[in-house]
Amino acid sequence: MLSYFTALLGFMHICILGAGVIGVTTAFYLAQSGYRITVFDQQTEVAAEASFGASLFALPSVGLKPTSMTHSLAQYSRICMNRLEQPLPMLCRDFTATMTKKAKQMGVRFRFGYELECLKSLGGHTVSAQLKAVIPRNQGQISCQADAFVLAAGMNSRDILKKQGLILPVIGLKGYSFTLTHHLSGERFTCLYPWVDTERGLIANWQNNTVCFSIFETQPSAKLRANEQAREKLRSIAINHGLSSKQVDEGMFWTGVASTTPDGLPYIGPTHQPNVYVNIGHGAFGASLACGSSQLLADIISDRPTEIECYPYRIDRPFTIIV
Ligand SMILES: Cc1cc2nc3c(=O)[nH]c(=O)nc-3n(C[C@H](O)[C@H](O)[C@H](O)COP(=O)(O)OP(=O)(O)OC[C@H]3O[C@@H](n4cnc5c(N)ncnc54)[C@H](O)[C@@H]3O)c2cc1C
Repeated sequence: MLSYFTALLGFMHICILGAGVIGVTTAFYLAQSGYRITVFDQQTEVAAEASFGASLFALPSVGLKPTSMTHSLAQYSRICMNRLEQPLPMLCRDFTATMTKKAKQMGVRFRFGYELECLKSLGGHTVSAQLKAVIPRNQGQISCQADAFVLAAGMNSRDILKKQGLILPVIGLKGYSFTLTHHLSGERFTCLYPWVDTERGLIANWQNNTVCFSIFETQPSAKLRANEQAREKLRSIAINHGLSSKQVDEGMFWTGVASTTPDGLPYIGPTHQPNVYVNIGHGAFGASLACGSSQLLADIISDRPTEIECYPYRIDRPFTIIV
């Protein structure tokens, strides 16, 4: 745990790995707590992976793996989001861009085109992140020294943690989504907000002038594997919900892999290394859970009382193996 008072003086430096919706929102809440923050991402901009095409904010009254704890985190997230300056964009990548702007205004530094290779430890304490340049305008390798590290690298977090000696059961959840932002009439879609069909792994959303349908491969053998099949399925879902073929052709079709966990709850909190934290495994609801998860992690790192129970999200619940 880091001292809140020291953080207030801006002395504590925290390095965040991953600039998806979770990494960026974590940066915002930690900067609000007074820390000096640097965020790294291998991509050239924020929300370029699972957060890119994620749709609107589904509040999972039922998740793909429904649990009461996912529900509490979603409700808490909604409370945290309502505390922010409104209005907020409801598409995940636009929301992430807005949070990036807010974070930058608080002094958060973003560095793109650097891939984390490993975390270096000295005497059981992690001291630096070793990163290599992965775009032409960056050169060679760099090292980022910090007092604490937050892993928010989506699916890649599993391999990064494995190199650090921690095996966490993080599972890829492949999803396909169709999003159309247009002048849509509300009456037709209000019934969709939010709608989760756990049997078919389908999320449907309507908000303002945007409609979004997402389907997930709920089993490894699912026939949806081929993108073309998923696209056709989404097309027919959209048409069945009243969109014309012309409108469907104007929509954005997108595929991404979100990280989930065996019990459907994210991992939020410390790891086996005292100054390395995780905020990963949000499955099909990362955008919806981002504010609550990040506020919770900021409170844990600052050693403040948390507003919701933090135990259900700890890594040392069943299924975790430390080697
Ligand atoms: C089809 C689909 C539809 C969805 N719909 C919804 C929805 O309606 N509502 C909802 O709430 N959620 C939805 N989700 C889930 C949501 O997209 C994810 O839960 C969320 O994006 C996870 O965010 P993240 O920041 O953890 O991961 P990511 O967005 O994947 O971010 C991880 C970041 O880490 C970076 N990174 C990875 N490895 C490294 C490395 N070694 N070095 C440096 N950087 C690295 C990546 O470049 C990436 O930018 C959907 C997901 C999919 C796939």
